[in-house]
Amino acid sequence: MENEPLLMLPGPVPIPMTVRAAMTRQAINHRGNEFGRIYAECTRMLRPLFGTKNEIFVLSGSGTAAMEAAVANFGEGRAIASLVNGKFGERLYRIAKRYGNAREIGSEWGEPLDIAGLERSLEEGTEVVTLVHNETSAGIRNPAEEVGRLTSKYGALLIMDGITSIGGDLVEADRWHVDVAFVGSQKCLAAPAGLSAISVSPRAWKMLCEDRPYYLDLDAYRKSASKNPMETPYTPAVPLFLALHEALIVIEKEGLTQRIERHRRLARAVRAATEAWGLALYPKIDGLHEYSNTVTAIEIPERVKDKDLRGMVKKLGIEIAGGQDRLKERIFRIGHMGAVGAPEMLSTLSAVEFSLRRAGFGVKGNGVQAACEMLV
Ligand SMILES: *Cc1c(COP(=O)(O)O)cnc(C)c1O
Repeated sequence: MENEPLLMLPGPVPIPMTVRAAMTRQAINHRGNEFGRIYAECTRMLRPLFGTKNEIFVLSGSGTAAMEAAVANFGEGRAIASLVNGKFGERLYRIAKRYGNAREIGSEWGEPLDIAGLERSLEEGTEVVTLVHNETSAGIRNPAEEVGRLTSKYGALLIMDGITSIGGDLVEADRWHVDVAFVGSQKCLAAPAGLSAISVSPRAWKMLCEDRPYYLDLDAYRKSASKNPMETPYTPAVPLFLALHEALIVIEKEGLTQRIERHRRLARAVRAATEAWGLALYPKIDGLHEYSNTVTAIEIPERVKDKDLRGMVKKLGIEIAGGQDRLKERIFRIGHMGAVGAPEMLSTLSAVEFSLRRAGFGVKGNGVQAACEMLV
């Protein structure tokens, strides 16, 4: 029995005990053999999750640090097109504007990306494209493979935010022609917050910008990583590395295929409950775009207040997420990423069902029952 609330958020997520325990040990030298081995093992275990053979570096900063590193090292001064259909796509666009000549290819949040608009911009000479694979703010999974087909056809570099897909859903960075991809520690990896990892393709290295940031200079990361023992350029967040290492061992033990299938099963369970209640999923999907398998965004029905709904769920010891920015009070989101399974999901859905009723919504059918059907 844990005293902390159960976090069914799209990050942070519950952290397995072995992962937490790894952070309590005595300090180790980050220029020593043990750290070098741990860093090397982390990159080895991360590669299959990214679906890449490329070099991977671990940065001491949350996912946003990796977003900035990607754009600053490969987009500085270049023509960048940012695909946007949610908050994180917009964040990448904002970063792109700081460093390059950026244009937004926007859609309404949660609606399909403008693929035709992307192709036009590539014809007009876009050199770098930014994409969010799993748009956490709207619960939509964007068609990375399709975008990669276009960027590679036109010889543009593809930067992909895989922060809430890598380690939870299928990512095949190499096969999809993704040049730079990154993940954050507190999402599907079920590690503590504060680290990110980034992969860089040989093609991206050829396009490395001259004018790079200092702390997030990926060429410095590359030089340090090639040393023996493997290093980072500056002092890393060592306790978080130790935890990440354990988290990746947990993932390796489960097996990537099984892990992805578990996430997909949980996603099917939430979607079945939503339908049974008579609620609507928020994203608009079209066969190319899909519902996210790691976070589900559900429309808040009329007359129900977000505060009442999530407040009651929280009274029952479970935290779910609201909408961000323009989606505030319009949707709620259930995260199902990391180390959670049927018990966590069923208690969450029971709490939501109860709270929907309490908040004045007449649920149509038994959502928990519908979810169970998907989990057996
Ligand atoms: C969480 C998240 C980020 C990064 O956010 P941090 O607060 O820096 O961890 C970026 N992109 C997506 C899609 C995310 O879900």
